[in-house]
Amino acid sequence: MKFKLNNLDYSYNALEPHIDAATMEIHHTKHHAAYITNLNNALKDEASTEEELLAILDNISSYSVAIRNNAGGHYNHSLFWKLIKPSTSNAIHPELEKELIKNFGSVEQFKKAFEQAALSRFGSGWAWLIKKEDQSLEVVSTPNQDNPLMDTATTKGTPLLALDVWEHAYYLKYQNKRADYIQAFWHIINWQEVYSRWSK
Ligand code: MN
Repeated sequence: MKFKLNNLDYSYNALEPHIDAATMEIHHTKHHAAYITNLNNALKDEASTEEELLAILDNISSYSVAIRNNAGGHYNHSLFWKLIKPSTSNAIHPELEKELIKNFGSVEQFKKAFEQAALSRFGSGWAWLIKKEDQSLEVVSTPNQDNPLMDTATTKGTPLLALDVWEHAYYLKYQNKRADYIQAFWHIINWQEVYSRWSK
């Protein structure tokens, strides 16, 4: 059995003008697909379910660098596609809004912390909003394809929101302007998905 590339819930041009169709298609069919191919090769196809993937991430320190990079790459992208959607309605659920205010002082301060994490990640990586074991929320960033589920993470937690800040995620449309891409991200967040992950 092998991990497979799932279809997106929307078309490649559905996130225009915030993320362009060419970026979405290349990101999904080339970058994400390559992580899956390399993961299957590194695991010799010995795992293929979400549960197995989560178990690998939780114990990633005992796996090879190839598995770390590609298990992270597959998990992170699968999650990212669910966390963005066409910008029809993207209000934050009142219960989650209350929690953001409790943890960050205000929604604006949460956004600032998230933008800062995304901007200051040097090179390639991800910015995250996570729920920690004590239920508190924190903004963190990770390098490469690492994520906060890995046993190697400085701060562990369940990812609620994620932003890919690799150049491949924005270079065609935004070139070197990562800050503009981060601003565009606020328009296409699937807050319903964030809320459902938080309330689990
Ligand atoms: Mn990516």
